[in-house]
Amino acid sequence: MTEVKALQEQFVELYGGDSSNPIRTFHAPGRVNLIGEHTDYNGGYVFPAALTFGTTMLIRKREDDQVGFASTNFPLRKHISIQQVELRAEDDWINYPKGIICELQKRGLTVGGYDILYSGAIPNGSGLSSSASIEVVTAYGLLTMEGQPTDKVEIALLSQKAENEFIGVQCGIMDQFAVAMGKKEHAILLMCDTLEYKHVPFVSGEYKLVIGNTNKKRGLVDSAYNERRSQCEQAVKYLSAKYPELTLLGQLSLEQYRSAQHLIPDETVRKRAQHVVEEIDRVLQSIEVLERGDLAAFGQLMIGSHNSLRDLYEVTGVELDTMVEAALAVPGVLGSRMTGAGFGGCTVSLVHQDSVERFVGEVGRVYKEKTGLTADFYVCDIGNGVQELQL
Ligand code: ADP
Ligand code: MG
Repeated sequence: MTEVKALQEQFVELYGGDSSNPIRTFHAPGRVNLIGEHTDYNGGYVFPAALTFGTTMLIRKREDDQVGFASTNFPLRKHISIQQVELRAEDDWINYPKGIICELQKRGLTVGGYDILYSGAIPNGSGLSSSASIEVVTAYGLLTMEGQPTDKVEIALLSQKAENEFIGVQCGIMDQFAVAMGKKEHAILLMCDTLEYKHVPFVSGEYKLVIGNTNKKRGLVDSAYNERRSQCEQAVKYLSAKYPELTLLGQLSLEQYRSAQHLIPDETVRKRAQHVVEEIDRVLQSIEVLERGDLAAFGQLMIGSHNSLRDLYEVTGVELDTMVEAALAVPGVLGSRMTGAGFGGCTVSLVHQDSVERFVGEVGRVYKEKTGLTADFYVCDIGNGVQELQL
């Protein structure tokens, strides 16, 4: 809370302190996908969790139609008229909150004037979803200030729409959903197509989630991602010889897949399909083991997921593999895997609290030796979704 105090002082310095309107504070977390990678577009489950750090938003009503935007993370700040919310390249990060205002206005909501200060603890562009975090905190904060209903699933959908249509990034729903709907000490089992979801207890006890950022620029992602998607579609075509109704790999159980895999003549396509079907099965096993509090078993599933993404789906690369291998060599580590689309971005590891310091030192050193890159580490627990902070 001392951080919020300092932010309040910064807010007053920036926007003045003589207003009779109160400054209110909102927070949305970052997120990490714990297991279930490259399953979402195959009709399978993902398993994200909200982190204990994220984006804080201080907001105060103004008496005119201006909205003031400032962030402790970027130098650009400005006021714009609430009537003039459009995408402008020179507005850089401010386009994210503007996209939310635009989406609220499209739904017929009148948004008044406000002064806003953001402060983010999530590294940008590393796959922990700082964009979903700033979108969701803005939507939740503005709706609350306007006295409107704050249905969190609606907020996630609205935020995703803003990112798709205003910013122009074709992300799925997982990020915004996890950031909005996160729950302390729970992960979220989510089916992205239907938004069917369930909070699953993830009581980490003496273990911490340690996120390692490879700081590798992700050049390959887009073309490889499209290639994987089309390989999954090819697999469905082959398998529909046996299952004529099949439209997505996620509709097959492991047994059904195994009895039909010989119908896929292309070895690469077969490997891709095997990853998807087994990864979905690993997610379901994860729910089982976590519901009985067996973190060690979950760690084994994380390792299985990484190996499959490396050998069958082939989306890891030397940076992610080096980081995971170094992580698993540290005593007190239950599991480690890449998280996100792959080829760079982050790993997530489950590390005993007494080993965290050694983990950061050793993994960082080995990673630097083998790749020449410097890793960053974030030690966290699973936190709540978007909320107003009562100070
Ligand atoms: P990520 O993987 O972190 O979501 P993106 O490229 O999708 O990466 O989104 C990062 C962008 O979101 C930043 O470059 C910035 O424009 C915006 N953003 C995120 N957090 C903040 C913040 N605290 N203040 C201002 N802008 C932010
Ligand atoms: Mg993003």
